[in-house]
Amino acid sequence: MKIPFIPDDAPFSGDQRSYISGFLAGLHSRTAFGHDANVPATAALEAQQTTQLNILYGTQTGNAEAVAQDTAKRAQSQGFKAIVAAMDDVTMDAFNAMERVLVVVSTYGEGEMPDNGELFWEALAASDAPKLNGMQFGVIALGDTGYDEFCQAGKLIDTRLEQLGAKRLLARVDCDIDYEEPAEQWVTMFLPLANERATGVNEASPDPNPEPEPKKTGWNRKNPYAAKIIINSSLSGPQSAKDIRHYELSLGDSGLSYEAGDALGVMPVNGLPLVDDIIRRLGAKADTAVTGQDLPLSALLEKKFEISTPSRDLIREIERRAEHAELSNIVANGDKEALNAFMWGRDSLDLLNLNPKLAFDPDLFVSLLKPLQHRAYSISSSPKAHVNEVHMTIASVRWTNDGRLHNGVCSTYLADRCQAGVDAGIFVLPNKAFRVPSDDNAPIIMVGPGTGIAPFRAFLEERQARGARGTNWLFFGDQHRATDYIYSEQLGRMSKDGFLTRLDLAFSRDQAKKIYVQHRMIEKGKDLFALLEDGGHFYVCGDAMRMAKDVEAALHQIVEKHGRMTQSAASDYVNRLKREKRYLRDVY
Ligand code: NAP
Repeated sequence: MKIPFIPDDAPFSGDQRSYISGFLAGLHSRTAFGHDANVPATAALEAQQTTQLNILYGTQTGNAEAVAQDTAKRAQSQGFKAIVAAMDDVTMDAFNAMERVLVVVSTYGEGEMPDNGELFWEALAASDAPKLNGMQFGVIALGDTGYDEFCQAGKLIDTRLEQLGAKRLLARVDCDIDYEEPAEQWVTMFLPLANERATGVNEASPDPNPEPEPKKTGWNRKNPYAAKIIINSSLSGPQSAKDIRHYELSLGDSGLSYEAGDALGVMPVNGLPLVDDIIRRLGAKADTAVTGQDLPLSALLEKKFEISTPSRDLIREIERRAEHAELSNIVANGDKEALNAFMWGRDSLDLLNLNPKLAFDPDLFVSLLKPLQHRAYSISSSPKAHVNEVHMTIASVRWTNDGRLHNGVCSTYLADRCQAGVDAGIFVLPNKAFRVPSDDNAPIIMVGPGTGIAPFRAFLEERQARGARGTNWLFFGDQHRATDYIYSEQLGRMSKDGFLTRLDLAFSRDQAKKIYVQHRMIEKGKDLFALLEDGGHFYVCGDAMRMAKDVEAALHQIVEKHGRMTQSAASDYVNRLKREKRYLRDVY
């Protein structure tokens, strides 16, 4: 994977970082497909159900799992015996024995397998993978057309299954951010095929006693709940290079519920200065009508379309017409890294301004934009500690390019426009793969620098509310202790009363040489390894581009040294942690 370079001293984080690294990458959508209950399999049901369908999911943020669970419910209601499992929970032997398989997999980062599908893919791609001549399969690939490697994980699995001899029942569906409908339609076609191919006749009969649907609140990406902001306050000090904010929102009468580890979807609106500047640049007016749209231009740009991150279509069109030698050169060479570097920090207006003489029709401009999407933030509260409230911890993203101030879309919408008393559109994005251990005595080790601390504040509150007795160890850090030690009072209190058993801090810029969380991990490697040996769960949250990779490398190093293992044995050890769900990440 190519990682665009972000200078160390760049004052960017959060959505700016994802903008930089992901201009080609677009957004992560963490929208839930539908329900969130696990699929039960009762003995009575099993007796009636004849056709077994194994539904395997690979998910980073819960979307693919939600699709898998929903599909299983539909399959069960049509008489299948549907069994849902995470890809990594399935061994190659067990996989080999499956006859009808549906894989639902999202693509992570730039064409990578999601965390809980990595080991499965490794085994499937290996030269000694079993022949799968007895298997029939289908693949639902989730992705984002903003990414170069759109739906790559699904494509890889689809191709590999065919190579190994499995029979494709229906051509793979590649779903963009709005995946719900295409996935549902595909499932509608797939299920009868899975039945017929199994038996020659459609032998599954509808389940006469379907499980009751779990209660749905009805609040989702398309219908967000207008939550009242209770608190919007600064966590970082005035001298900080960052503006990290703490938000508290009321869940009111929404019926929304969540668990520590879940994320919150927030529907932003674009900042008016950018909207106005673009309208001016297009030579249009706020109330200019746009063909095929029922809102005037200003409302479209504010509420409906992504105007910060330029779409690929917009880049293509501007490159074609702007006569900008540098951009045209990069595109002609197909150099993704150079394109990333070129786009770094530039928004749609910057692109239009590459050639100030270029006239751009508002209709055409709007037709090249992508719909404005929600942003997802790890929830930083436990519902047990803050009844009917949800908290977030977000760094406001602002940067200057070409002398113009640029704002991250959602973080600055929240910071600037969501003061106490204002409503913000939200919905819950369950992340069942990122939870505190069900065993309250199990030790947990949390690594969450910067705003990566968010879910760990939630975890700590959750464990405290549950009276959990297991060790809680937090590695936290940021640039300076004096200005960036967020939640220091709460953490200090938890430390003092012994609940937060260990707290290791790494303030990177308080000394000449940078100190990061992974350096602290290595310093404490012996104890860390001992805790893993004691059944510890290891969690990481925050920047995926560099921090999470370096933390993983440190973990390998620690296991190798303190477990007195070879490199490959240490790798196996870390893989086992992953398989046992004792190494979990929430990284972006
Ligand atoms: P940040 O930029 O990650 O900085 C926090 C600390 O990490 C700083 O001291 C920084 O040091 C240090 N750091 C830089 N490179 C590092 C590396 N390779 N290894 C370890 N530490 C490193 O903090 P932030 O501004 O709060 O951003 C947090 C990141 O986490 C963002 O990318 C955000 O999108 C992501 N995040 C994701 C989630 C989620 O939902 N999964 C939740 C919260 C945050 P220097 O700056 O001095 O180099």
